[in-house]
Parts: sequence; structure tokens; C-alpha cells
Amino acid sequence: MKNILITAGVHGNEIGSVLIAREIRGWVESRGIENVEVIPEVNLEAVENRTRENPLDSKDLNRIFPGSEDGTCSARIAHRLFEKAKQFDVVIDLHTYGDNSRCIPYMLTDLNESYNRELCESIGLKTAVQTGGTGGQFFIETSKLKIPSMIIEAGGAEWFREELETVKENILDFLFERSHPSTEKEVQYYHHYERVRPKMKGYFEPKKEPGEEIEEDEVLGQIDGELVKADFPGLILGMKRESEYDPEEESIAAVAEIEV
Ligand SMILES: [Zn+2]
Repeated sequence: MKNILITAGVHGNEIGSVLIAREIRGWVESRGIENVEVIPEVNLEAVENRTRENPLDSKDLNRIFPGSEDGTCSARIAHRLFEKAKQFDVVIDLHTYGDNSRCIPYMLTDLNESYNRELCESIGLKTAVQTGGTGGQFFIETSKLKIPSMIIEAGGAEWFREELETVKENILDFLFERSHPSTEKEVQYYHHYERVRPKMKGYFEPKKEPGEEIEEDEVLGQIDGELVKADFPGLILGMKRESEYDPEEESIAAVAEIEV
């Protein structure tokens, strides 16, 4: 039987993933399942403060794995979690988009490794996106140890129940080896994704929704009345909602290019 580690709350503002992780832990504990461990609040101080970074050292926990035993508070959390993860056969790290944005449920992993692709098939969400990762990300560092690993993104910091419910159901089906209706659809693989980050600052109004497919040069929305277009065709994974936009802080959309 595979030992499965499910984590959430690496980013403390992504509260929806913390809440579904708590629900998944409830299911696992009530059935006495011993091969699954769920940690809903990895970055406890950040979760309590609803901040992306740990307020004690202002570090982004998901940039500093494998961490270190004698570093800052975040480095020590990373170290402890990384050492624990080595005892598992699967790592699933739950995230959502940040403030004022939301995304469809999707699996993000290094698809060049066949064991990560197999994990995508087992989880069975519709969308899987390739990433080589940013250095120091939990799932990338565990994947390098040949442990099948992924991030699942869904919803946003303001908590979108429908997207998160889909993720929860697919994970429960995976854990309890139930067949699930959504796996009857094939996983669609995307070989690349990019953030759309126009340079001008201003008030953003979206014209599209996450989950919509777009053509090259299609209008995604406008900033202070000026049109914002996509550079390449693809699937809108996530999008900023109507609100003030600052290119220093965020992007207006994440668009994935389909694998051919
Ligand atoms: Zn996150």
C-alpha cells in the first residue's frame, strides 16, 4: 500500500485548500486509514495570519525547500517537512490562487517524469500542466527524489467552493480507490503555461473566465479602458477578478498551451 502525504497551507492566505485538507483529514481519520497523512496547516503562523509568507521571517516557504535545520523559522519548517516527505510514496500539495483571483482545478507537475504523469492519471482531474518548477518548491524537490509529486491549484484566496469540492472529491476517490466519474474523461496535458503581465497599472476588468479557451490576440480584459490581449492561444487556467492591478504584485491571467 502506498504511503500518501497531503499538505496544504504552505501559503497561509490560500485558505480554501486548508479547509478541504481539514475535511480530507476528517475522512481519513474517521476510517482509520494509516497509509495517509494530511497536514492542513504546514505554515501555521502564515495560516493564522492569512498571509502568503510566514510573518515571523517574511519568507515564501515554497521557495526554500529542502530548507535547513538551523536556518530561519521558514527554513526549519521546510527542513522538517522535507525530511518527513522522504518516507512517503506520493506527495500532493494543495494550493489556491491568491487574493482577487481564482483558477480552475489543475495539476501542476514535472510531466517529463513518467511517475508524475501516472499520478495525474490516478488523480484524474481534467487538466495537467507542465512545470520545471521554481527552485525550492516542495513538490519539485520531492519529485527530484523520484517521489511522484504535484501541486493541485483550485479556486482563490476568497475561497471558491465548487472548484475546491472537485479537488476534494477526486482526492477522496484516489485515497479510497473508488472509481470516479471525472476520470472517465481523459486528462488533458499542457506543456507550458505563462502569466500574462501587462506593464500598465490600473483598474482591471476581465472579459473572460478561467476555463475558457482563447485564440492568439484575443482580448482577456481591459485596464483603465485599454485592451489586454493574449500572446498565444490556450486555456485560461486562472484569472484576476475585477480589481486594481499592479504589475509588480501579480499577473492578470495564467494561460496554458496545449500539448501537441
Ligand atoms: Zn500557493
